[in-house]
Amino acid sequence: MTTTYQTLAVHGGPAALSGLPALPPWPQHGPEEEHGLLEVLRSGAWGSIHGEVVRTFEGELAAFQGAQHAIALTNGTLALAAALRALDVGVGDEVIVPPYTFIATATAALFVGAVPVFADVDPATHLLDAAAVEAAVTERTRAVIPVHLGGDVVDMTALNEVACRHDLAVVEDCAQALGARWEGRGVGTLGDLGTFSFQTSKNITAGEGGAITAQDERLATSTYAQVNVGRLPRGAWYEHSVVGYNLRLTEFQAAVLRAQLQRLPDLQRVRAERAAALREALTPLEGVEVAARDERVTAHGHHLFLFRVPELGSRGLRDAAARALTAEGVPGVSTGYVPLHHNEAIRSEMHRLTERLGQPAPVPDCPATDLVASDTLWLPQSVLLASEEHIAAIGQAIAKVVANPDALA
Ligand SMILES: *Cc1c(COP(=O)(O)O)cnc(C)c1O
Repeated sequence: MTTTYQTLAVHGGPAALSGLPALPPWPQHGPEEEHGLLEVLRSGAWGSIHGEVVRTFEGELAAFQGAQHAIALTNGTLALAAALRALDVGVGDEVIVPPYTFIATATAALFVGAVPVFADVDPATHLLDAAAVEAAVTERTRAVIPVHLGGDVVDMTALNEVACRHDLAVVEDCAQALGARWEGRGVGTLGDLGTFSFQTSKNITAGEGGAITAQDERLATSTYAQVNVGRLPRGAWYEHSVVGYNLRLTEFQAAVLRAQLQRLPDLQRVRAERAAALREALTPLEGVEVAARDERVTAHGHHLFLFRVPELGSRGLRDAAARALTAEGVPGVSTGYVPLHHNEAIRSEMHRLTERLGQPAPVPDCPATDLVASDTLWLPQSVLLASEEHIAAIGQAIAKVVANPDALA
């Protein structure tokens, strides 16, 4: 029996997405963002010291996630560092992080003089594995940062059990998971503190921006101090209770974010529908594994659509597949993260730090991360805002590319 394969676009065949209109633009905006920006401009209250927009946004964000408190700030990278400082994690402490994440998750530990210790992920979900966290605990471990990658949610039940057993602080990295819920509870409310990012690629954005959510009043106060040069809420101007950064968000950014948060539920509905359609198209395909879903994730953030191509990965053809998909017209195809335990900047800073401290440098053992890093592809949230027609064509493009690995070799 002979099988006929469609000629790939990289080899001169017709592109799967040819003839389709351009994708909707990202970021999206309308009169709400315009109105909010002009109002701040004309008010003259451009900073949160004089205006109320940041404070209003903080209230709306906290309500949206079901958190007691939210503190807005400049970005998700420094949100992680500020959260660690608010929890008094510092020099010589160890912080357990997954290696399959954006670099900021690990650099936050280094910023405060703590050593990032890598614990492996579950290859079915790409998410931090609680058993691997427990195996990485030493007498120096003070905190763990579960990353809700792509809008999916780490098994927080298992993770919190481990954290509780070893008295670890939990900072949830929710940069990719605004709106996601674990057993009905919003991410950022499941650990001690949760950090968010509103950088351009994220599901709501003001170009840059971030936030920290807290449940505990005392922790919210120390977080506020980290964002506001050590000031206390309602404290005197030159009263600095602790050493803290200035990470304040501007009123302009908060005005945009208020409008973005308003439009989020509608966009999330579209992203969820498109992700479900794509999952349905890819599930029957041999050679494609869509990230597993856990029923306890009662709302998914749909920031990334992750899937693995194990056969292509084992033959070293994943990158060629990404190029082939791009040639088919699939927008935003990514080969995903380079694992952080292989990142030279992190490795060298970590070794300099542990040497100075006279502490052993942790030796990462993360085979599942190495595996998924070799065979993962993802599409960004903006692609999940495309039409049903686009999504069907993207499914066909992926089917075409995985059907014939030999053509990629
Ligand atoms: C985007 C991101 C960050 C950093 O946020 P910035 O606002 O870009 O500094 C941290 N962690 C993860 C997982 C992210 O995706």
